[in-house]
Amino acid sequence: MDQRVKFARINKLAEKLGAKILVVSAEELSDAKSSVDFSPCPFRDGIGVCHSAQVVLVDKHFLQEEFWLATLIHELGHVLASKEKPDRSREFDFLGWEIAFARKVRGLNDWIKGNQDYCIDWHDHLEFKELPRNKRKEFFDQRIAVSRRKGMLDANCHPRSIR
Ligand SMILES: [Zn+2]
Repeated sequence: MDQRVKFARINKLAEKLGAKILVVSAEELSDAKSSVDFSPCPFRDGIGVCHSAQVVLVDKHFLQEEFWLATLIHELGHVLASKEKPDRSREFDFLGWEIAFARKVRGLNDWIKGNQDYCIDWHDHLEFKELPRNKRKEFFDQRIAVSRRKGMLDANCHPRSIR
Protein backbone atom coordinates (compact mmCIF):
# COMPACT_ATOMS: atom_id res chain seq x y z
CA MET A 1 0.00 0.00 0.00
CA ASP A 2 1.10 3.50 -0.78
CA GLN A 3 2.79 5.14 2.21
CA ARG A 4 0.92 8.38 1.54
CA VAL A 5 -2.39 6.57 1.84
CA LYS A 6 -1.31 5.18 5.19
CA PHE A 7 -0.20 8.60 6.34
CA ALA A 8 -3.49 10.17 5.21
CA ARG A 9 -5.46 7.60 7.23
CA ILE A 10 -3.39 8.21 10.35
CA ASN A 11 -3.65 11.96 9.92
CA LYS A 12 -7.41 11.81 9.56
CA LEU A 13 -7.92 9.69 12.65
CA ALA A 14 -5.46 11.80 14.67
CA GLU A 15 -7.36 14.95 13.73
CA LYS A 16 -10.68 13.38 14.57
CA LEU A 17 -9.35 12.60 18.06
CA GLY A 18 -8.02 16.14 18.53
CA ALA A 19 -4.33 15.92 17.67
CA LYS A 20 -2.42 17.64 14.91
CA ILE A 21 0.46 16.20 12.90
CA LEU A 22 2.73 18.88 11.47
CA VAL A 23 5.10 17.76 8.72
CA VAL A 24 8.05 20.15 8.85
CA SER A 25 11.57 20.66 7.55
CA ALA A 26 14.64 19.63 9.54
CA GLU A 27 15.25 23.32 10.33
CA GLU A 28 11.75 23.84 11.64
CA LEU A 29 12.04 20.75 13.81
CA SER A 30 15.32 21.99 15.16
CA ASP A 31 13.74 25.39 15.96
CA ALA A 32 10.95 23.63 17.84
CA LYS A 33 13.52 22.03 20.12
CA SER A 34 13.98 25.32 21.94
CA SER A 35 10.29 25.39 22.87
CA VAL A 36 9.55 24.39 26.46
CA ASP A 37 6.60 22.31 25.31
CA PHE A 38 8.66 20.20 22.92
CA SER A 39 9.74 16.65 23.80
CA PRO A 40 11.89 14.90 21.19
CA CYS A 41 11.36 11.18 20.76
CA PRO A 42 14.24 9.65 22.76
CA PHE A 43 14.82 6.68 20.49
CA ARG A 44 14.44 8.17 16.99
CA ASP A 45 15.53 11.45 15.43
CA GLY A 46 13.16 13.47 13.31
CA ILE A 47 10.03 13.38 15.43
CA GLY A 48 8.74 14.77 18.70
CA VAL A 49 5.66 16.17 20.40
CA CYS A 50 4.32 19.33 21.96
CA HIS A 51 2.26 17.70 24.68
CA SER A 52 0.22 20.71 25.83
CA ALA A 53 -0.64 21.70 22.28
CA GLN A 54 -1.33 18.06 21.27
CA VAL A 55 0.88 18.38 18.24
CA VAL A 56 3.26 15.83 16.75
CA LEU A 57 6.05 17.44 14.74
CA VAL A 58 7.66 15.24 12.15
CA ASP A 59 10.53 15.91 9.77
CA LYS A 60 9.29 15.14 6.26
CA HIS A 61 12.30 12.88 5.70
CA PHE A 62 11.32 10.83 8.70
CA LEU A 63 8.25 9.68 6.80
CA GLN A 64 10.56 7.96 4.29
CA GLU A 65 12.17 5.87 7.01
CA GLU A 66 11.32 2.24 7.40
CA PHE A 67 9.55 2.31 10.75
CA TRP A 68 7.88 5.70 10.56
CA LEU A 69 4.36 4.36 11.07
CA ALA A 70 5.00 2.68 14.41
CA THR A 71 6.86 5.70 15.77
CA LEU A 72 4.22 8.15 14.59
CA ILE A 73 1.44 6.15 16.26
CA HIS A 74 3.51 5.94 19.45
CA GLU A 75 4.02 9.72 19.49
CA LEU A 76 0.30 10.24 18.90
CA GLY A 77 -0.27 8.06 21.96
CA HIS A 78 1.73 10.59 23.96
CA VAL A 79 -0.58 13.46 23.00
CA LEU A 80 -3.93 11.61 22.94
CA ALA A 81 -3.68 8.69 25.35
CA SER A 82 -1.51 10.23 28.06
CA LYS A 83 -2.36 13.10 30.37
CA GLU A 84 1.24 13.17 31.54
CA LYS A 85 4.08 14.72 29.60
CA PRO A 86 6.26 12.19 27.71
CA ASP A 87 8.98 11.99 30.38
CA ARG A 88 6.37 11.08 33.01
CA SER A 89 4.07 8.99 30.88
CA ARG A 90 3.28 5.34 31.44
CA GLU A 91 3.88 4.12 27.92
CA PHE A 92 2.97 0.52 28.59
CA ASP A 93 -0.56 1.65 29.54
CA PHE A 94 -1.18 3.04 26.08
CA LEU A 95 0.36 0.20 24.11
CA GLY A 96 -3.15 -1.28 23.70
CA TRP A 97 -4.29 2.10 22.42
CA GLU A 98 -1.47 1.98 19.84
CA ILE A 99 -2.53 -1.51 18.74
CA ALA A 100 -6.16 -0.36 18.38
CA PHE A 101 -5.10 2.75 16.50
CA ALA A 102 -2.88 0.72 14.14
CA ARG A 103 -5.75 -1.70 13.48
CA LYS A 104 -8.15 1.11 12.79
CA VAL A 105 -5.88 2.62 10.11
CA ARG A 106 -5.11 -0.87 8.75
CA GLY A 107 -1.46 -0.53 9.67
CA LEU A 108 -1.07 -3.28 12.25
CA ASN A 109 1.54 -5.23 10.26
CA ASP A 110 3.70 -2.12 9.89
CA TRP A 111 3.21 -1.33 13.54
CA ILE A 112 4.38 -4.83 14.49
CA LYS A 113 7.47 -4.53 12.25
CA GLY A 114 8.34 -1.19 13.80
CA ASN A 115 8.03 -2.42 17.37
CA GLN A 116 10.29 -5.46 17.28
CA ASP A 117 12.63 -3.97 19.90
CA TYR A 118 9.88 -2.73 22.22
CA CYS A 119 10.64 -4.02 25.69
CA ILE A 120 7.51 -5.80 26.87
CA ASP A 121 8.97 -7.11 30.09
CA TRP A 122 11.61 -5.04 31.86
CA HIS A 123 12.07 -7.66 34.55
CA ASP A 124 13.12 -10.39 32.13
CA HIS A 125 14.31 -7.97 29.41
CA LEU A 126 11.96 -9.51 26.92
CA GLU A 127 11.55 -7.67 23.63
CA PHE A 128 8.50 -7.96 21.44
CA LYS A 129 10.39 -9.96 18.78
CA GLU A 130 11.12 -12.64 21.38
CA LEU A 131 7.46 -13.17 22.12
CA PRO A 132 6.37 -16.47 20.55
CA ARG A 133 3.92 -15.99 17.69
CA ASN A 134 1.24 -18.04 19.46
CA LYS A 135 1.41 -15.72 22.50
CA ARG A 136 0.87 -12.58 20.48
CA LYS A 137 -2.91 -12.49 20.54
CA GLU A 138 -2.98 -13.04 24.29
CA PHE A 139 -0.46 -10.23 24.77
CA PHE A 140 -2.41 -7.85 22.52
CA ASP A 141 -5.66 -8.69 24.33
CA GLN A 142 -4.00 -7.97 27.68
CA ARG A 143 -2.66 -4.63 26.58
CA ILE A 144 -5.98 -3.68 24.98
CA ALA A 145 -7.79 -4.57 28.21
CA VAL A 146 -5.48 -2.26 30.17
CA SER A 147 -5.95 0.65 27.75
CA ARG A 148 -9.69 0.10 27.80
CA ARG A 149 -9.78 0.12 31.59
CA LYS A 150 -7.95 3.44 31.51
CA GLY A 151 -10.62 4.90 29.23
CA MET A 152 -8.41 5.08 26.16
CA LEU A 153 -10.64 2.78 24.12
CA ASP A 154 -14.38 2.82 23.66
CA ALA A 155 -16.70 -0.18 24.08
CA ASN A 156 -15.81 -1.36 20.57
CA CYS A 157 -12.09 -1.05 21.32
CA HIS A 158 -11.67 1.92 19.04
CA PRO A 159 -9.11 4.48 20.16
CA ARG A 160 -10.32 7.60 21.90
CA SER A 161 -8.64 10.60 23.47
CA ILE A 162 -8.35 10.97 27.24
CA ARG A 163 -7.25 14.60 27.03
ZN1 LIG B 1 7.47 7.44 24.12
